[in-house]
Amino acid sequence: MKKLILLSFTGLLLMGLVLNFSHNSAADEGKDYKDSHLSSLEVDKVDWKSKDKKYWKEVLTPLQYKVTREAGTERSYTGKYWDSKVSGTYVCSNCGQHLFSSDTKYKSGTGWPSFWKAISESAVIEKDDSAWGMTRTEIVCSRCGAHLGHVFSDGPQPTGKRYCMNSVSLILIPNQKEK
Ligand SMILES: [Zn+2]
Repeated sequence: MKKLILLSFTGLLLMGLVLNFSHNSAADEGKDYKDSHLSSLEVDKVDWKSKDKKYWKEVLTPLQYKVTREAGTERSYTGKYWDSKVSGTYVCSNCGQHLFSSDTKYKSGTGWPSFWKAISESAVIEKDDSAWGMTRTEIVCSRCGAHLGHVFSDGPQPTGKRYCMNSVSLILIPNQKEK
């Protein structure tokens, strides 16, 4: 009898582990958004431009802050999305504005997530950037001013553009059907 109880207990325990595991992997997809400061906010109603350094330091991870607020760059091939093939919408990790669709993502071979088009012309702002002795075009989020990356003119058709973004500047919201 004791053995039976022990067996069923072990069985239950294993079942619990399996269930828990599948639960985790299903929830993983949207995890970033849920764990970020955006989850508790109505992101379209916040006055993002009024947020100061202190606020951003509090809500962002150190790497996110360095990249998005101090125009840093994450190391290539280290970010979460450079190789992601999940379809969905990439939103700003700082303010949640929709920035890029996975439909325009392509493999650039750079180790950073690359797109040939922004989701809309009003979502991103282009700025001249002459830091580090290079003349480049910086891309920032039009709603909160977060640095996202740079745009180059060696991308694929139909635009010929390469939006070279930092993974930490983005959060991928997967399409519902794939959850
Ligand atoms: Zn933003």
